[in-house]
Amino acid sequence: MRYIFVTGGVMSGLGKGVVAASTGTLLSLSGYSVSMMKVDPYLNVDAGTMNPYRHGEVFVTDDGGETDLDLGTYERFLDKNMYRENNLTTGIVYKEVIEKERRGEYLGECVQVIPHITDAIKNKISGVAKRSGADFFIVEIGGTVGDIEGLPFLEAIRQMKLELGNNTFFMHVAYVPYLETTGESKTKPAQHSVQALREIGVQPDMLIARSPRPIGDDERDKLALFSSLPKNMVIRVPDLSSIYGVPDLLYKEGVRDLILERFGLVPKVQGDGHKLAARFQDLRQGPSIAMVGKYVRLRDSYVSIVEAIKHASAALGFNPNLVWVDSEEIEKTGVVPQLGSVDGVIVLPGFGKRGSEGMITAISESRRLKLPFLGICFGMQLAVIEFAREKLGLKANSTELDPNAQDPVIDLLPEQKNIKELGGTMRLGGATIRLVKGTKLYEAYQGIDPRERHRHRYEINPNYWSALQSVGLVFSAFDEEKRRVEAIEDPSLPFFVGTQFHPEFNSRPMRPSPTYLAFIREVLNRSKQKEEAITT
Ligand code: GLN
Repeated sequence: MRYIFVTGGVMSGLGKGVVAASTGTLLSLSGYSVSMMKVDPYLNVDAGTMNPYRHGEVFVTDDGGETDLDLGTYERFLDKNMYRENNLTTGIVYKEVIEKERRGEYLGECVQVIPHITDAIKNKISGVAKRSGADFFIVEIGGTVGDIEGLPFLEAIRQMKLELGNNTFFMHVAYVPYLETTGESKTKPAQHSVQALREIGVQPDMLIARSPRPIGDDERDKLALFSSLPKNMVIRVPDLSSIYGVPDLLYKEGVRDLILERFGLVPKVQGDGHKLAARFQDLRQGPSIAMVGKYVRLRDSYVSIVEAIKHASAALGFNPNLVWVDSEEIEKTGVVPQLGSVDGVIVLPGFGKRGSEGMITAISESRRLKLPFLGICFGMQLAVIEFAREKLGLKANSTELDPNAQDPVIDLLPEQKNIKELGGTMRLGGATIRLVKGTKLYEAYQGIDPRERHRHRYEINPNYWSALQSVGLVFSAFDEEKRRVEAIEDPSLPFFVGTQFHPEFNSRPMRPSPTYLAFIREVLNRSKQKEEAITT
């Protein structure tokens, strides 16, 4: 097993996950198998209970893990599923060590960060690496070097280098800011972050200099000198228009060969990141899509959906304009002015009452304007509520939003009724979706029942199935036992689809999700029709 450890310096949000995953892409394109792990130094056992405002999207793995959004990046770049165990947190490590202590397995010992916590970390990392059976295991350490909570992990990987020697490689991703006032790129923060890393005994083998603008040769020399690295081990990665251009850029900078050489290997097959980069290059700036949700101020809250839209759009040759609509604003004003100028609407997943009536208003408006509509999870549930109010005249609601709803068309899943703990207890992960013939969804998947992922506690209440169907709502997919509705459609509109599942989690840059592709096709049609109407 060969390990590549990726650390970050100066600040977060540098695209460390993209750099780590892009390195994985290049190695796998060279014929080596790659798996990855994200280490998160926070104390939460998983990301499931964290607010997307603070931490961004919760990515759901096929085996039902609620993980850090970087696992989504890994899946998309490696075109390979990750699992719950590919995300390690301080919470998991401490929980395990403390439980072991309570069982008396450390009897007589004083349990300490070093060696007990660090040993547990090493065992976790190497256990997952071995089970993956991969040629390369890339471990991304979350947070920034210098954070107190990251120290045990850095100490653990330092020890792994001692034990494994030449089978490890350390990449450090640091930021090189550009100062507008003087017109220079500044290397000092990156130098300091390498120093901070060395203080704890880790000398990087490669430095990735992330910068808003390309940096010059002088700066590269400086970085090499202060990091004790040969110049070719300082890799310049300026901001790109698409993240899918990063593997190609790293390839051109020699990253793949430098790493392989270091391990005494050669590529088994030739492959670079060019095809991937090309798919996302020179795209026509496309039609606009309204994105209606509660967490729109932090774009990372919906990163898998944004990527799924981009994958589907790129397959059709364009890059969409996303128009973010805050559902709480709709509630305040009662109007959705943005819908007049867009060619499609997505109502996003979510939890809780705040902003939900605003989302329902946006759904009514999309119906009135006959806009292509896609509701994901909460978005689908709210579409059903809107439908029941509009077509059945019911005082419909979800018991999540109003526990005493007169017509609870959306209600708790039966198996959820006795659940008390909130962590990891939703209906989570992949399940087979049974498509119904003759529906848009069936067509989108070409009749092949897919496996899609879930994250919810509520569903369409079976007591209202027949009433909803009697006024024209079509159930276009069910679960395997036909006990729950997985998708809805309104065939009286050009495209009105909602899914209880989250198709975005399975979307890959070169293999867009069929649900999103079907929606984006309609968006494109709509904008073409509009253009034609203007020109004729
Ligand atoms: N809050 C809803 C539920 O729990 C929807 C969840 C979601 O959109 N992921 O069922």
